[in-house]
Amino acid sequence: MKYEGMIIRPPSEARSLLLQVTVGCSHNKCTFCGTYKGERFRIKSYEEIEEDIIEAGTYGRIEKIFLCDGDAFIIPQRKLVPILKSMHTHIKGIKRIGTYANAKSILRKTPDEISELRDLGVGIVYLGVETGNEALLEQIKKGANYGQMVQAGKMIKDAGIELSVTVLLGIGGIEKSREHALDTARILSEIDPDYAGALTVMTVPGTELYEDYRNGRFILPDVFGFLEELGIMIANSKFTKCFFTSNHASNYLPLRVRLPEQKEEAVRLIYNVISSRNNRALRPDYLRGL
Ligand code: SF4
Repeated sequence: MKYEGMIIRPPSEARSLLLQVTVGCSHNKCTFCGTYKGERFRIKSYEEIEEDIIEAGTYGRIEKIFLCDGDAFIIPQRKLVPILKSMHTHIKGIKRIGTYANAKSILRKTPDEISELRDLGVGIVYLGVETGNEALLEQIKKGANYGQMVQAGKMIKDAGIELSVTVLLGIGGIEKSREHALDTARILSEIDPDYAGALTVMTVPGTELYEDYRNGRFILPDVFGFLEELGIMIANSKFTKCFFTSNHASNYLPLRVRLPEQKEEAVRLIYNVISSRNNRALRPDYLRGL
């Protein structure tokens, strides 16, 4: 398999074959993201991709495949369909194909096209929503507004494809912390994804956010501020059936909860930790008890 540049994948795709179909991210403008900075986006040629597919076919049965990089959904349908068909021709045992997508690339497809991708094995789409706050979405240059995010998420779900969304604790800084948390609970509830993950924003050198951080224009909440946002998001969420994780805080408070069933339990736990202001209360082992 040939890989170019930075390759990332969601944690849940750890056992998947990573098939690189694009290099970089077609958007590449988010102010907090340094993953593909300096990388020129391109869709790999069919020949390049097919070579990797044929090689993967020699590995034996492969149940899960993840299409890299940042947004394989941007590939025009006329190019993406033959790639997926070739995967089924050469690789045996495929049960699920996953990919990152952004709202813009989802909205460029018609509902019929998304259903066609589902029929060809696309079983999960990972969408970075980051925040439900309209002003913040614009400020972080996410490339989509609230309504577009919701519409994109719903298109995936309506096609019968599982949807996993991520949001970013701390992306509003201390200044917009509360409104970010409340609006994010609202957008999560409206999208109603199968999976939701809260990550913690990082200030990565080379990004616009890092410059704002260095110049004092962006101030990160402290660990209890992050937990406060997490508590607000979960307490105000109205999911039908969602597996909610908070890996961000692998150092602080890793949560893996089923919502709405474990909502009260999760919120109580988070506020107990916040009110104790005791770092020792942030023991992963105890918190994993959820
Ligand atoms: S869409 Fe995703 S990969 Fe692309 S710049 Fe934004 S956060 Fe980074």
